[in-house]
Amino acid sequence: MAPPGSVYTRAQVGMDAPLVTVETHLQPGTPAFILVGLPESALRESRIRVKSAIQNSGYGYPDRRVVVNLAPADLAKDGTRYDLAIALGILAASGLLKAGLLDGFEFLGELGLYGELREVRGVLSAALAASNAGRTIMVPAASLISLRGNTRNVIGVSSLREAVDVIRGKPPATTPDTPAGTVPEPPPVYPQIVGQQLAKRALAVAAAGAHHLLMIGPPGAGKTMLARAIPELLPALDVTEAVEVAAVYSAAGLPPPPAGRPPMRSPHHTATAAAMIGGGPYAFPGEISLSHRGILFLDEMPHFAPAVLDHLREPLQTGEIHLARVRYRVRYPASFQLVAAMNPCPVGRTCKRETCRCSAQERMRYQRRISGPLLDRIDLHVRVPELSGREIAGRDGNAGATAPRDAIGACRRLQMARQGVLNAALEPEALRRHAALSPAARTLLLAAVDRQHLSARSYDKILRLARTVADLAVSETIEPVHAAEALSYRSLDWENGVTG
Ligand SMILES: [Zn+2]
Repeated sequence: MAPPGSVYTRAQVGMDAPLVTVETHLQPGTPAFILVGLPESALRESRIRVKSAIQNSGYGYPDRRVVVNLAPADLAKDGTRYDLAIALGILAASGLLKAGLLDGFEFLGELGLYGELREVRGVLSAALAASNAGRTIMVPAASLISLRGNTRNVIGVSSLREAVDVIRGKPPATTPDTPAGTVPEPPPVYPQIVGQQLAKRALAVAAAGAHHLLMIGPPGAGKTMLARAIPELLPALDVTEAVEVAAVYSAAGLPPPPAGRPPMRSPHHTATAAAMIGGGPYAFPGEISLSHRGILFLDEMPHFAPAVLDHLREPLQTGEIHLARVRYRVRYPASFQLVAAMNPCPVGRTCKRETCRCSAQERMRYQRRISGPLLDRIDLHVRVPELSGREIAGRDGNAGATAPRDAIGACRRLQMARQGVLNAALEPEALRRHAALSPAARTLLLAAVDRQHLSARSYDKILRLARTVADLAVSETIEPVHAAEALSYRSLDWENGVTG
């Protein structure tokens, strides 16, 4: 139980929303507003906002010494989110709100000078934490939409005045169920893809097993369009996943992706390390976390700074990222499927196959901007060649096909039922148990190991891919045709430079 005169609110530390208690005391003496527990820079502005909001909402501001303490004091505090709680604490301390009325509530929101309530980031994490603590949280009405239906014990209000009215028992003007207006869905990309049967097949395999994918080919072959079609191949997120994703977007202060759809992010190649992995003074989540449960698309991958690409290795391995700040550490989820695209030729050249005059050395130097360890984490390497005249004319009997999302969803359910993870995440020991090879398929793979001098690690990658190909064919054992297809996704000659 909080001491009398205290009001609850929530900080935002990564994905967590720790409880903050606002204690307000009115003391005799020269009128002053003393606020303790915020960084110096945030203090002054917070005092101005809270005082003006109270006065401009028509409430008297106490003509006494007002002491407000935010505890604990060592939390990272970006200041604005506590305005509503501070203002209500002052109104309660000055007797404008009856003692006890604030019990059972938490408050979150920035006040404007006229008492209007503004959105803050991290509302979803705060709402979930308040609900777990058995309290109702009052948040800016504008933030309700970012909660994506997680509105149990959440009240949206649009001003300090409305907050006071609701505390006194008046129903809020905005209910969580107020329809937010639906954004029209853009037309699907997949049916617009011309040609590229082999690449489309690779997309389906990558989507089915959650394998990372690299497409290499000349400009104009349609790599970007292929990448943009991948979310259409992925099944909808379940409720738990959708809440995870919405919480990351809430922490970043961004609207979440359309309900239940896996997110897709495509940062520009000039993205900084902080934009990519997260950072800044408040440790905002980066692109890798905004891609959580979805797709991170890196177009023209060799143009990204090598140091930025290097940062991808940890999250690719662990599915999360830790950001260290001076006084705290935050963790964000970052379990994404990496989709990358690149030209085979150096920066700025738009070679077609027959016009390319690049030397093997030039190509190799360019392609080696992607480090071996990163390349190694990408399961499928697919060549996306120039379209043939027949394909461009739409005569390959392939145009207009709809995305095989249902088949991919069924394939993913099969994997989860069998082994509890998707194939790309199978550990070596579980992989051996679940990837049963027919004798002929085994012979074929072992011959490839000898011929291509494959490491155990590479062999495992091929086995995982073969497992996914066989699963798409609903075959319990991996047959030679599945193994051969898997091998084809690992057959580019990076040693000598991949040609267009
Ligand atoms: Zn070239």
